[in-house]
Amino acid sequence: MIDPQSVAFDFDGVVADTMRLFIKIARNVHRVKNLTYDGFTCYDLLECTDLDEATLTDIVDRIQDGRYTDPLEPIPGAANVLQRLGDQYGPVVLITARPHAKPVEDWLQQILRLDRNKFEVVPTGSFDNKTKALTLREISFFVEDRLETCYQVQDIGVVPVVFSQPWNNEPHPFKRVASWPELDSMIKWPDTLPEKER
Ligand SMILES: [Mg+2]
Repeated sequence: MIDPQSVAFDFDGVVADTMRLFIKIARNVHRVKNLTYDGFTCYDLLECTDLDEATLTDIVDRIQDGRYTDPLEPIPGAANVLQRLGDQYGPVVLITARPHAKPVEDWLQQILRLDRNKFEVVPTGSFDNKTKALTLREISFFVEDRLETCYQVQDIGVVPVVFSQPWNNEPHPFKRVASWPELDSMIKWPDTLPEKER
């Protein structure tokens, strides 16, 4: 069971359906029409798509800077769980490798309708710095969609929980969740404790 007081979340691919926005930007800005969600079978898109580096960088930059007109949708069920965590346990920690917090903070307020004081966004600027952020905040569980990061997280004694995506669909030793309702069912909410432990 996941301790609700000590869990943190990645943002892209866990809370936000970023790769569907990626496909829309590729189509509408770059006229790349052959990308499919299930075709993203690895994390490095240069490897598993035929995108060139300049196009890939442009799309990633647009997403990170918030420069897009298509909506960035939430992953279904994320809002409810984050809301509940924020209400019951104070700011929910989101640790992202993105370089800027602002577009993520705005999105959490506008799209997920979370109060500004109910979440903290930590932009580490790199995947490798996520472990440092986890240690500083004494987090024990981290929900993440990038397997390489899960291995790093495990190395520092934090329990990674893999949020299933086409790009992490390979054998690994970690707990895996397919959806937010499933994640919700793994959280040790106070009202899910047996009678005598309440
Ligand atoms: Mg991610």
